[in-house]
Amino acid sequence: MEDEKLNEQTNSLKENVQENKSGNPYQHIILKVLETDYITHDVKRFVLEKPPGFSFKPGQAVNISINLPEWKNQLRPFTFTNLPDDDYLEFMIKIYRDRNGVTKKLESINAGDELILHDVFGVLQYKEDGVFISAGSGITPFLSIFRYLYKQKRARANLLIYSNKSSEDVIMEKSLHTMLRDNFIMVFTRQNVIGFVEKRIDRDFLIDNISNFKQHFYICGPEDFVMSIREILLSLGATTEHIIFDS
Ligand SMILES: Cc1cc2nc3c(=O)[nH]c(=O)nc-3n(C[C@H](O)[C@H](O)[C@H](O)COP(=O)(O)OP(=O)(O)OC[C@H]3O[C@@H](n4cnc5c(N)ncnc54)[C@H](O)[C@@H]3O)c2cc1C
Repeated sequence: MEDEKLNEQTNSLKENVQENKSGNPYQHIILKVLETDYITHDVKRFVLEKPPGFSFKPGQAVNISINLPEWKNQLRPFTFTNLPDDDYLEFMIKIYRDRNGVTKKLESINAGDELILHDVFGVLQYKEDGVFISAGSGITPFLSIFRYLYKQKRARANLLIYSNKSSEDVIMEKSLHTMLRDNFIMVFTRQNVIGFVEKRIDRDFLIDNISNFKQHFYICGPEDFVMSIREILLSLGATTEHIIFDS
């Protein structure tokens, strides 16, 4: 049984070792989940095996489906949160328990289960130091980018502004503090937390916290968040080519 499964996987691996557009050798590949845990009340971390030669750039995402008959064609995009040269793949996924979708099903996926990784893609790649602005699970591409920059001792040349509803929703707070120290501003939109900024990221907030609008800006989060921050940045003198965004 085990052998049969292994053969099946090897065949599918061979089938898929054709150069695709991203330069990754796999068009789609079945991978085993090695480990899972909850990093907030509704964000689950998945560690997956990494097949030989699999590549991605910090900030990139991949379409994922669950390897179960009724789920394998339901593809959803998620972002790699680890470093390309790690020997595993890592994702941090917000579970929407109120929707009958893929993330709700991912609640029951744990070590030993399988996910299918499809095409790797993404525009949110690091170009130069700058200001990173994110909301909620929009932090995931920045995590991989900051881990990459931290390894090169360059993370603290950047500023992160990270908005969440409350302190319970912050993903990887400790790690972000370690990497960015004082260059990490948390904003809470729905909670009175002593010692933290309690407001929305609006025009006044950006004027108060950013001295130079001629640098690179990276924005990731819900579409309306990204679009409104982008508009404000443009009105404050940032240029379109220096604003890199994804929603
Ligand atoms: C490039 C990219 C990278 C991403 N990376 C990450 C990441 O790293 N981590 C992460 O957590 N997320 C990430 N996301 C977001 C993630 O893809 C979505 O959260 C995910 O697709 C939701 O899938 P779902 O099937 O659970 O829900 P959906 O497909 O959104 O919804 C399932 C069903 O629920 C219903 N529904 C839809 N919206 C609502 C609503 N607002 N209220 C109630 N019901 C609704 C609909 O009937 C729908 O068919 C990324 C998105 C993009 C575009």
